[in-house]
Amino acid sequence: MTTKKKGLNTICTHAGELKDTAFKGAVSPLYMSTSYAFEDVEIKRYPRYFNTPNQVALSKKIAALEHAEEAMIFGSGMAAISTAILAFLKAGDHIILQRMLYGGTYHLITEQFEKFGIDYSFIDGSDPAAFEQAITPATRVVYIETPSNPLLTITDIKAFAEIARKHNIVSMIDNTFASPVNQNPIDFGIDVVIHSATKYMGGHSDILAGAVASSSENMERIFQLAKNLGGSLSDYTVWLLERSIKTMGLRVKAQNENAQKLAEFLNAHPDIDQVYYPGLSTHPDHAIARSQMHGFGGMMSFELKNDINASHFQKSLKLIKSSMSLAGVESTVLSPTQTSHALLSEEERQKQGIRDGLIRFSVGIEETDDLIADLEQAIQTAKKQQETVTSH
Ligand code: PLP
Repeated sequence: MTTKKKGLNTICTHAGELKDTAFKGAVSPLYMSTSYAFEDVEIKRYPRYFNTPNQVALSKKIAALEHAEEAMIFGSGMAAISTAILAFLKAGDHIILQRMLYGGTYHLITEQFEKFGIDYSFIDGSDPAAFEQAITPATRVVYIETPSNPLLTITDIKAFAEIARKHNIVSMIDNTFASPVNQNPIDFGIDVVIHSATKYMGGHSDILAGAVASSSENMERIFQLAKNLGGSLSDYTVWLLERSIKTMGLRVKAQNENAQKLAEFLNAHPDIDQVYYPGLSTHPDHAIARSQMHGFGGMMSFELKNDINASHFQKSLKLIKSSMSLAGVESTVLSPTQTSHALLSEEERQKQGIRDGLIRFSVGIEETDDLIADLEQAIQTAKKQQETVTSH
């Protein structure tokens, strides 16, 4: 009998689940023990060793979702990112990263790496050839984020992974914005896939977690550092995350659909200057996005026309909330200059193309018409406020 590979929602719902042999309950039992009987020197079960029953079960689900041999769950996205990167670097090594990065990752590199004696380079734009030119004999890791935060630029994953492979360098991607529903980078030759599971995997704005997926060989190397750094996740949250991922396929597909309609609405709106969404045919990287994504995701950014104050607009929204984080079932907005990228210098923000009027929009699962109505009334209210200011 051939075993057919299961579809997305079946994997989300069932992969890795624990059987409740005692009571035959429908969901994985939760094992909260931090103390287990000693089995042998090799297997010491302990949450910081990432091997409790619930950790192992959820790791299997995430590995299946990312088409990886193995996965590990961490206490935050940053714990996953820092552990994965540092596992492959030592003093004297060099890492190349895309400049357009999540702010926390950028700060990890610029604030900490010098003291470890690790050299780094940032690449402007997303051209894989620019990465190749920056490679030195000391380069060990290359790192991208696509779609990027907050301008949704797209990097050609296959071209990028091929360059890394050619030079025998480990390739890594932060796949948070796409989620495993929309993008599976291992299929394009990427070595290590990282997630802030706080985002689409959690999906309800109530879990902080991270995940890494890769080959067994790479995961062993990451594990050896992870157990020393101690960034594991509590089993209760692991269990909640398993529950959240069961609906990830449904949630993310609804978010994709909403985002496409909202991006089209905003793109056609006379008061909107620019819309950054890879699902729009006008997006400069639309063709690459189409070739490597199953869906274009729930994240977009847009700029209001100059005569509309971004802060007035945000405050006028009634249904859509202001929020630092993203990817929940509820729609949220933020101003990157005031929040996620506030600690970057003005010059660095300019380099990254982040303007003051930019709004990052995380699209939720509400009814599209309700979201459109909220955006429209907020644009009109902010416009009226501006007219009052300028007429005085
Ligand atoms: N990567 C991306 C793209 C993010 O947006 C974030 C958080 O916003 C992170 C990583 C860091 O994740 P966490 O906040 O779970 O540590």
